[in-house]
Amino acid sequence: MARPLVTVLPGDGIGPEVVEQAERVLRRVAPDVELVRRPIGGAALDEVGSPLPESTLAACRESDAVLLGAVGGPKWDNVQPVQLRPEIGGLLALRKGLGLSANIRPAKTYPALLAASPLKGDAGLVDLVVVRELTGGIYFGQPRERREQGRVAVDTCVYSVEEIESVAHVAFRMARQRRCLVTSVDKANVLETSRLWRETVERVAEEFPDVQLEHLLVDNCAMQLVRNPRRFDVIVTENLFGDVLSDEAAMLTGSLGMLPSASLRPNGGANPFGLYEPAHGSAPDIAGQNLANPIATILSAAMLLRLSLGRPDAADSIEKAVGRVLERGVRTRDLAADGEPYVGTAEMGNAVLREIAERG
Ligand code: NAD
Repeated sequence: MARPLVTVLPGDGIGPEVVEQAERVLRRVAPDVELVRRPIGGAALDEVGSPLPESTLAACRESDAVLLGAVGGPKWDNVQPVQLRPEIGGLLALRKGLGLSANIRPAKTYPALLAASPLKGDAGLVDLVVVRELTGGIYFGQPRERREQGRVAVDTCVYSVEEIESVAHVAFRMARQRRCLVTSVDKANVLETSRLWRETVERVAEEFPDVQLEHLLVDNCAMQLVRNPRRFDVIVTENLFGDVLSDEAAMLTGSLGMLPSASLRPNGGANPFGLYEPAHGSAPDIAGQNLANPIATILSAAMLLRLSLGRPDAADSIEKAVGRVLERGVRTRDLAADGEPYVGTAEMGNAVLREIAERG
């Protein structure tokens, strides 16, 4: 069987530093996986004149999955035309070019980091996943225009049964690997797209009799997320609601440096192609100083192994090693309390590797 191929896009700022640690971990737990680096973002713009070179996009399309660091930084903030900016011409163009329609953002608090959660006591012990539809809804609906001499603006929200089914399947499959509860979030008391969403999700649920389905209105969901987030397992929702709810859920864990993400191209099968990246940006304020927390990227690599390569054991060993490292009190600067000692990016990578070597 051919070796699985992963294209690695280090990008800008802290991107190369955090990606390097994730590559070391991947090599340890899945030595047969081939990792090939390609340029993206400001680095690619400087190197070859494009934030997303054709050869990078082609390499991504030929691989089983993509691991990305982050793109952008002050050096490229004023580049003209805007299509050459790393975030627009690099990352957004990449996501579009790869046809990624389901975004997955886990929000999990590690007990050792509970104090960082804005919620009091055990309420902050969150372990949920937001599955967001990424290529439909109001962000893409036509018409989108100004009328009446610019005094009226119109955005259109469109959803098809196929788009809803596709993301619902991702959510139900994910719930099956977790606690078997899907919360579908909509605004069905007001919106026609939400009524179609609800009907379609209910039909998909019939294929998953072992998974419980509940519906929540988006305003209620936003409230429950801060009141009792532990009640959630998998939240599935449309593009705009997902944008807001995934950020809200992320903040419950208290640390940007800990949050992985995946964007999938659902194919009806068990192991879709996906782009995996930390939820944070390129953090130019700490770039090149060995201060970045690599855990979000290391956990993104674990998601890659589980979701796109079908290697749950390798993913588990990474996630457990991260938990144990934190329990031992190892902290990067962003996780350390005032006056508490901290380690650098590479040392955090070493600590995770050591745990994997010792306990598997
Ligand atoms: P950011 O996420 O890069 O940084 C926000 C704050 O969090 C900074 O203080 C930073 O030092 C800190 N931080 C982020 N990741 C960290 C980590 N792993 N370890 C320790 N601290 C960390 O967001 P920003 O400052 O708004 O954006 C900076 C640049 O990143 C901009 O050019 C922006 O366009 C780009 N950006 C890229 C992506 C992406 O590539 N997916 C996402 C967001 C922002």
